[in-house]
Amino acid sequence: MTAHPEYLWRNGELVKWEDATIHLTDLAWGAVGAVFEGIRAYTTADGQGLNVFRLPEHMQRLRDSSRLVRLPLSYSVDDLIGFTIELLRANNVHEDTYIFPLVHIGGDHAQRNDPRSLVAAMYMRHNPSVTHLCTGLAHHARVSSWTRISDNVMPPRIKNISNYRNGQLANYEAKLDGYDSAILLGPQGKVSEAPGACLMMVRHGKLITPDTTSGILDSITRNAVITLATDLGIEVVERTVDRTELYLADEVFLCGTAAEITSITQIDHFAIGSGEMGPVTSQLESLLLSIFRGENADYAHWLTPVY
Ligand SMILES: *Cc1c(COP(=O)(O)O)cnc(C)c1O
Repeated sequence: MTAHPEYLWRNGELVKWEDATIHLTDLAWGAVGAVFEGIRAYTTADGQGLNVFRLPEHMQRLRDSSRLVRLPLSYSVDDLIGFTIELLRANNVHEDTYIFPLVHIGGDHAQRNDPRSLVAAMYMRHNPSVTHLCTGLAHHARVSSWTRISDNVMPPRIKNISNYRNGQLANYEAKLDGYDSAILLGPQGKVSEAPGACLMMVRHGKLITPDTTSGILDSITRNAVITLATDLGIEVVERTVDRTELYLADEVFLCGTAAEITSITQIDHFAIGSGEMGPVTSQLESLLLSIFRGENADYAHWLTPVY
């Protein structure tokens, strides 16, 4: 495959990659108004099929994100599902793929500061992205010196582009300090999430995760993990989490579309549990991979087939 797919999707039609241009000056403040989604498609175990994971939920969230920033997105969830399948088929995609729709402010510069005249524009692209599940990936994390944005500063629960400087600063700091990931605390010093992924911990046999008013993104993977754990008979608790609980946890992992499930085996130089990926993390990881690959009929309703 070439470095980019042949087509991307823009404002209701497939366009050649080379033809999808905007004027340079449309960047600048235009980018502040954008919202997006991160979605994954996985090949089936036999390599023949391709399924998108929880596509309706992602497209519903794209509509919610647009609504919250007052972008009048005219497409229904069904329209958006159709466009995604059309794009993947046009590019003949047969590999694990990350799909990125972006809704941004279109039209005239002059209208951009008046919500009554906002015009929504949208494009969607994708790129190959192989799963890391069941490859033994484990991260060392630090608690960031940056605070997670709070709900009356920026809307943390939606994928609002301008939110992401916050996590980026935390990531830069963590990487420069020799860690793989950051964990952000909210303004009250309680655990929120990692940049781009939600956090779960296991302690005394329970799965504990910050609740949806802890400044977290309203994560579809988090919701899936809660369902899976509950179905496995594990008690799930959504509540405020203290920083020091992380250090005493038996297991900690991140979850999200990009992170899938990523085990955290060390935080601020505390080994988490045994210092290796724990049994609950590993069980959830295998289960999720079998679902992604279309091998688990119980959760087949989470998959939208492309072929
Ligand atoms: C996308 C995202 C997540 C994970 O959400 P999913 O719906 O599971 O992909 C978590 N945190 C942030 C900040 C995100 O942008």
